[in-house]
Amino acid sequence: MNLFGLLDQAAARFGDRGAVYLGDQQVHTWSSLRERSLRLAGSLTGAGRGARIAVASENRPEIVELMFAIWAAECVFVPLNYKLHPREMGQILADADVSLVFASSKIGAELTSTGSAPVETIGSAHYESRCTAEALDAPRHTDPAHLAWLFYTSGTTGRSKGAMLSHRNLMAMSVSHLADFDSPDENCSLVHGAPMSHGSGLYVPPYVLRGARQVVPASSAFEPDEFLDLCESHPGCSAFLAPTMVARLVQTGRERPRNLKTIVYGGGPMYVDSLKKAMAAFGPVFVQLYGQGEAPMTITGLRRADHLHAGIPAPDEVLGSVGYARSGVDVAVLGPDGRPAAVDEIGEIVCRGDVVMSGYWRNADATAATLRDGWLRTGDMGSFDADGYLTLRDRSKDVVISGGSNIYPREVEEILLEHPAVLEAGVVGAPDEEWGEIVVAFIVGDVRPDELDAHLLERIARFKRPKRYEFVDELPKNSYGKVLKRDLRDRLR
Ligand code: AMP
Repeated sequence: MNLFGLLDQAAARFGDRGAVYLGDQQVHTWSSLRERSLRLAGSLTGAGRGARIAVASENRPEIVELMFAIWAAECVFVPLNYKLHPREMGQILADADVSLVFASSKIGAELTSTGSAPVETIGSAHYESRCTAEALDAPRHTDPAHLAWLFYTSGTTGRSKGAMLSHRNLMAMSVSHLADFDSPDENCSLVHGAPMSHGSGLYVPPYVLRGARQVVPASSAFEPDEFLDLCESHPGCSAFLAPTMVARLVQTGRERPRNLKTIVYGGGPMYVDSLKKAMAAFGPVFVQLYGQGEAPMTITGLRRADHLHAGIPAPDEVLGSVGYARSGVDVAVLGPDGRPAAVDEIGEIVCRGDVVMSGYWRNADATAATLRDGWLRTGDMGSFDADGYLTLRDRSKDVVISGGSNIYPREVEEILLEHPAVLEAGVVGAPDEEWGEIVVAFIVGDVRPDELDAHLLERIARFKRPKRYEFVDELPKNSYGKVLKRDLRDRLR
């Protein structure tokens, strides 16, 4: 089984319908996309089966044809986050031992200096000549365990590692998406608001299978107004967005666009207060995923209907949870003794199923530490409630232990954000002689510490209250918008 089969099916069923769009402009039909991908694949055979081929680009329509060409040639797709520093990209290219990099002209120019692999500019004359090469036959005999995608972790902690994702893994992800979250057809669209090197790109397979349009914004970036306009002009729009992007949509003050159907948010915490604002602005279009590169997009989820109870937003405990296990995935929480934790007891979240990676690329130690006894150790802490909803309590290393009590920063951040003057909040532990660690809150907003203290004391236990507030203009974030807790901690040392 090869993921190219998804495009084969779409081309057979919907051949002359629009497949790929740049803004409002149609770039390819399903037939022409299939044809170009197989010709591109024909030009890649020299690299050899299993060769790693990197793509380093802002969102562009060609990423779709490259993805399917790489799979047709039985090579491995290695997308690079285009916001990384060239030095970081160079590290990934060297680690993956890539044979060739397809890059946009801007990123290609920066990458060439790293000298790690030949760089070819997407859309150049040479690139276009590949699209007229002799077409490869569609692959028919690929082992589903064959590597399809090397997903480099976003590196909020240390060096990025390559999660090895097979055709089977991504098929399991696709089926689970179609079963749990969204059921697109040929009258629908996937709008690529988030980077296609990450979540938005992972969603290409399920939408291609159903013949839904692939819409790439003309700006190649996430511009809230442009995104909302595209959801007016294309039919049945779905998108994966990071929580910070959802917040930016809300800030436009615009109403729900006519054709906006589904926004899957996740990849980082969405605070309850922000989610309620987003639901008030755009209605019941939201679906939450909890996943990680090692189990792409698929560990638990909060389905669309779970966001509402009897027509109003569900209780905060539900909206603040990450939902329940996704179809085809076993999820458990393990206590310190390695046994399943009791209801409401916090422990490490583990999962297993066809979606879980086979390991980290050329990194046996990290693989052995992460895949244990058939389970993926996520490194996230959480607890199940009696109804089977999982709530995340930060990554194990983010927990603050103060005077022997565990404090989960997310809980304190949620409450801080309920204060109308707090725009952003990041809570971390700082070393302290007396307490071991103390809670410190970094705040973006115009508010006094005593006001925040009063606000917190009304809502949570006194020992969870920050002993110190640091007021900042913005919180440090990585290129996917995740707050860099490590940077905050470093500032305190
Ligand atoms: P990545 O592999 O870069 O996608 O990062 C995965 C990590 O992001 C997970 O292990 C979680 O710590 C975090 N994460 C993913 N989804 C959610 C979510 N819905 N809520 C909170 N954190 C999340």
